[in-house]
Amino acid sequence: MKIWFAVSEATPFAKTGGLADVAGSLPKALRKLGVDIRVVMPKYSQIPQQYINKMTFMGYTYVNLTWRREYCGIFKLVHEGVPFYFIDNERYFNRDWYYGQIDDGERFTFFNKSILEVLPIIDFKPYIIHCNDWQTGLCSLLLDAHYRYYRNQGFYQYIHTVMTIHNLKYQGIFPKNMMDEIIGLSWEYFNPDGIEFYDNINFLKAGIAYSTKITTVSKTYAEEIKTEFYGEKLFGILRKRSQDLCGILNGIDYEENNPLTDARIYTPFSINNMEDKQRNKALLQKEAGLNICPETPLIGIISRLVAQKGFDLIDRMIAELLGMDLQLIVLGTGEKKYEDMFLWAQGAFRGKISANICYDPVLAQKIYAGCDMFLMPSLFEPCGLGQLYSMRYGTVPIVRETGGLKDTVIPYNEYTGEGTGFTFANFNAHEMKDAVIRAMGVYKDKVRWKAIMKRCMQQDFSWDKSAREYSNLYNRICGITVTK
Ligand code: ADP
Repeated sequence: MKIWFAVSEATPFAKTGGLADVAGSLPKALRKLGVDIRVVMPKYSQIPQQYINKMTFMGYTYVNLTWRREYCGIFKLVHEGVPFYFIDNERYFNRDWYYGQIDDGERFTFFNKSILEVLPIIDFKPYIIHCNDWQTGLCSLLLDAHYRYYRNQGFYQYIHTVMTIHNLKYQGIFPKNMMDEIIGLSWEYFNPDGIEFYDNINFLKAGIAYSTKITTVSKTYAEEIKTEFYGEKLFGILRKRSQDLCGILNGIDYEENNPLTDARIYTPFSINNMEDKQRNKALLQKEAGLNICPETPLIGIISRLVAQKGFDLIDRMIAELLGMDLQLIVLGTGEKKYEDMFLWAQGAFRGKISANICYDPVLAQKIYAGCDMFLMPSLFEPCGLGQLYSMRYGTVPIVRETGGLKDTVIPYNEYTGEGTGFTFANFNAHEMKDAVIRAMGVYKDKVRWKAIMKRCMQQDFSWDKSAREYSNLYNRICGITVTK
């Protein structure tokens, strides 16, 4: 089984969010199952030098963007058993940030074409190209329009495609003049069943329309995105393709995120030695400038600071929350209004909240390990990884019941004592506060709380099960005949 896994970011090379975690860990799990999966991503200037030094130059080609030909170099690096291929073009990928550039449409058109163009050069003929999010959304359309029947004597003829939606909100919408000025696509593809989207073009929509199968990152989100509220104006095409759409839950890397061996946290601990988790808490409180109170529940938040993550609920409640006997530690960057909200609270409630407006993977790990609770009141959440990391470190999640949060956190039942977290259903600030109060109530009962922590740590959100689901999907696809 040969898979070409196309993605715009992957740990440890480049990361802006959960997509990179998935691309860094799913291929590793699939290779353990015997799948010959190889990853292709851009060679950004941000990739740490230690990895650049180890890369091997594999060759180069030129990619046509209508009237221009752009250089496309290929580098390779085998990392933890997974072959990674990096597309090199200084003009497109030597930038100050990965996305949000004025020419993103052109940059990622180049990337999508390169994903296809380099295959004969590295002599890899995949059965399936597995695309991820809008940045790779054009691949399946380009494959049909320009490659399958017209290039390299049948090299591309039988290749299938899978499109995985990690977040439907980000779609890659660009002006339609890109059709003939940059992509070089016939206008026959510019229709409501294809790439057209409110008189613009939409990369993700093209991926949804032309891929053999579509997946997203949890079963609940796969249902939600077919509704108007969560469908981000694409629910029509998703309903149309619902026979080919399924949800496969993300996992996390259980080796890298192991409280017993993680060098990033203050003190190792395990399910048999929970006292050392308390030491992590005390040292985190100290480092974060919080009052060192072992009995006060410490709640962590690690997130992009955007509306999706439910910060409007926190905005509404922050003074009331911090008026209670709890502490908050926040790590994140994003929209200024949310950054300002946390910075204001830090000034107003000294010793009770620590606002870390930065990107810091080591501090993130210390927060997962050192907190008592982890708050994710998301408006929508395709899968969410924060709650999985926190459970791995015995930190009890408080979440809204949406998308992957609903699929991974079992609501605590005060009568039976079952459950792994505290949840609320509606996007309502009082419901969120109520969930926090319920969690604080149980927290006072050390025996019951310890049982929840242990249950969190016993959950298995490693890739084993989900990687097998992807492998089964690949097998099913290979039984389908390619038709024009
Ligand atoms: P999303 O992909 O929507 O941003 P996820 O929960 O799927 O959300 O994944 C977020 C990932 O990014 C997690 O691994 C989280 O720990 C990490 N992360 C988010 N913000 C920061 C930050 N400021 N510093 C370090 N890691 C962060």
